[in-house]
Amino acid sequence: MKKLEQLYEGKAKKVYKTDNEDLLWVEYKDDATAFNGTKKGTIVGKGVLNNLISAHFFQMLAEKGVPNHFVELVNEQEQLVKALDIIQVEIIVRNLAAGSMAKRLGMEEGMDLGGPVVDYCYKSDELGDPLINDDHIRALNLALPEQIQTIREIALKVNSILTNYLADKGIILVDYKLEFGFHKGEVILGDEISPDTCRFWDSETREKLDKDRFRRDLGGVDEAYKEIYRRLTGKEVKL
Ligand code: UDP
Repeated sequence: MKKLEQLYEGKAKKVYKTDNEDLLWVEYKDDATAFNGTKKGTIVGKGVLNNLISAHFFQMLAEKGVPNHFVELVNEQEQLVKALDIIQVEIIVRNLAAGSMAKRLGMEEGMDLGGPVVDYCYKSDELGDPLINDDHIRALNLALPEQIQTIREIALKVNSILTNYLADKGIILVDYKLEFGFHKGEVILGDEISPDTCRFWDSETREKLDKDRFRRDLGGVDEAYKEIYRRLTGKEVKL
């Protein structure tokens, strides 16, 4: 497999073409951004950790019947994925109130939501990824109603798989963001699943083990990402 020209550079990843048009080569970066790109920094080792953590989740989800774009690791910081035509909607699933929802609705962070809450956001940096509903998705022609229904069902299946899996590792899955896309006419899960895109809390202490440590200047950011990798795999990563 050959890495060809760069197709795209996002905030956390670079994407390259390969000599197979169905496959893309993804490089995870150490760059960290928050608040729609207004806060910037570097988390040394994040590229490696998020590449390995995402690969771990995607392999586990595929084994449990959730088709996704992951193909194989190329090295510690890069992976091969299926090329998707990405749907411009971020799917957020929440189990406890946190972040923008807690703020918007005046909820105390950590409040149990009594079952998963699914939010949709329009993927648009210019507009700051605004919250949208099913009707907006239809009106904006982002996806068909039946496609959104399928996506919602997969997102909730991912929630029950990940919540149980992480509970065994002493981690509460507070919330997370998923992205989906079309591959050969089928809707499948894409993007990444990592401490950049999920809120993970220690089950005992409720200590934050995710990007909120960077967003809120809590310190120990790289240690938190390493701790997630350690709990998932039982291994240490050498950086
Ligand atoms: N999230 C993400 N990318 C985004 C927005 C949110 O990965 O562009 C993740 C975020 O890490 C958290 C969840 O989605 O795990 C819910 O985020 P929220 O809406 O609370 O927004 P935030 O507090 O991150 O602004």
